[in-house]
Amino acid sequence: AKKPPPNAILAPNFRFEDVGIGGLDVEFAAIFRRAFASRMFPRGLVEKLGIRHVKGLLLYGPPGTGKTLMARQIGKMLNAREPKIVNGPEILSKYVGASEENYKEKGDDSELHIIIFDELDAITKQRGSTNSGTGVGDTVVNQLLSKMDGVDQLNNILIIGMTNRKDMIDEALLRPGRLEVHVEISLPDESGRLQILKIHTAKMTKEGVMAEDVSLPDLASKTKNFSGAEIEGLVGTTAGISDDIDQLRVTKQDFELGLTEVQPAFGVSEEEFA
Ligand code: ATP
Repeated sequence: AKKPPPNAILAPNFRFEDVGIGGLDVEFAAIFRRAFASRMFPRGLVEKLGIRHVKGLLLYGPPGTGKTLMARQIGKMLNAREPKIVNGPEILSKYVGASEENYKEKGDDSELHIIIFDELDAITKQRGSTNSGTGVGDTVVNQLLSKMDGVDQLNNILIIGMTNRKDMIDEALLRPGRLEVHVEISLPDESGRLQILKIHTAKMTKEGVMAEDVSLPDLASKTKNFSGAEIEGLVGTTAGISDDIDQLRVTKQDFELGLTEVQPAFGVSEEEFA
């Protein structure tokens, strides 16, 4: 895969498609504008403007829509260290602490540390909600809050939380100075699905195993409510269905069959119950 140039954010010919992310250009523009445009400014300018960097970003939306891809890509574009992905309540001291430690040791905050909280809702159930009867949620939220408030002097930490359930996230975590910028990553529209289909069939096309009767625009129109992950699943399932192993060809008919096997899990109801 092509590596994006270090200043990819500003490179005019950069395309998300080239790094395997389809249909999220608008969302990315919003994230960039609202969450980290200031990180691209020269340091002096930030001081002159008297602004502070956004510390936290919340990406929310249905599963499999590319939140993790996006968070990792943001890390690459900001020349951050390999983002730390945190799953579950092992979290805090270990990671925020490690960044602080690094800062203390090297006295250098030029290297950005990105900490990604995947499934943030599972880690930090709303305080006082019946689910957190054990008090575990409370402790974790409180720890996270105090850690986030504590990193004020550190410009080199960006926290990205991800969730399928924004409504389950404690309000206190979503305030200014915390996970303050919220961007929804929703199911892709038809042109987004076409981009995602192109990405996940690129290899087949390159290797010449895709039959000529397959129309990606047609598939994009037939995959309403599919997430990116489900489109990827459709391509994989279809490749498996293709029985013409000798000829190794993935045909329109294979895709038709694939479409009967892979169904979208989300979004269907909105239309049907409208
Ligand atoms: P979850 O909420 O379940 O963690 P997510 O939104 O973080 O899901 P990802 O982990 O980024 O979703 O996506 C899973 C896989 O699905 C990706 O590795 C990728 O192969 C495919 N995929 C999802 N969205 C896209 C997209 N917009 N473009 C290309 N591929 C995608």
